[in-house]
Amino acid sequence: MAWFKKARKPRASSTAKKPSRVPEGLWVKCPECAQILYNKDLEKNLSVCPKCAYHFRLSAAERLRMLLDEGRWTEHDAQLTSTDPLQFTDTKAYCDRLRAAEEATGARDAVIIATGQLEGMDVAVAAMEYAFIGGSMGVVVGEKITRGIERAMDARCPVVIVCCSGGARMMEGALSLMQMAKICAALARLDRARLPFISVLTDPTTGGVTASFAMLGDLNVAEPRALIGFAGPRVIEQTIRQKLPEGFQRSEFLLEHGMIDLVIDRREMKAALARALRFMGAAAAPAPPPPLAVAAAGDAGQ
Ligand SMILES: [Zn+2]
Repeated sequence: MAWFKKARKPRASSTAKKPSRVPEGLWVKCPECAQILYNKDLEKNLSVCPKCAYHFRLSAAERLRMLLDEGRWTEHDAQLTSTDPLQFTDTKAYCDRLRAAEEATGARDAVIIATGQLEGMDVAVAAMEYAFIGGSMGVVVGEKITRGIERAMDARCPVVIVCCSGGARMMEGALSLMQMAKICAALARLDRARLPFISVLTDPTTGGVTASFAMLGDLNVAEPRALIGFAGPRVIEQTIRQKLPEGFQRSEFLLEHGMIDLVIDRREMKAALARALRFMGAAAAPAPPPPLAVAAAGDAGQ
């Protein structure tokens, strides 16, 4: 039966990679409900799974595009870059990590500072970029956010910070920790100037970022099911020697326990922020900025 006899062993063909029929990047699988989603549909839905409302992580630029009118903004301090002050090396040299992150994201550090309009109101927005060394806060992130807040004070406009960070940048040691105090001090000045600050917590917001500016908003809002915490659950369990409850460190749990003010679906985020800013006295851009005299009188009263 020569017809069925194979002259060569079939092994070579079976181990060879089968070319995929689907071009890469066209489809995405939802990690929550395993639904296969068409990438373009997902994008249109602001990267929220239409079936189970799982929120995919957004890049800083996507975030700004989603929040600001017509997806337009002016970026500030884009040229700032870390000088690697400690000449730090772990498994890889820090300067190599920086270069790799720069190549991967096209950004110089883990935050974009932008000014633009949100439903017609002038706002200063800082959006953190998780793809850049875990969105970690080093000297550059601290400096850029601080300058952003100061710029907002000069322009008398509210501040929105979208947090997405693993915390302080270990490769910059104590210098990265100092950024916590620096940003908090700038926020205190913003508060004294009677300008609102809304903190938007997204998945994940942890470590030194949670421990400083992320929780200092006049309003702290979070996306659904975002991981928000300081130390990781394993460290806490080992320290307190107790089993942690279900859903610990997720937005809904924090809302229930009074740590945050609102959990807002991403598709409603822009409208909700605009409503909150209007309530806090932000005016549409063509109108004059909030009257200085009132703010000064309020200060004097303290
Ligand atoms: Zn899903």
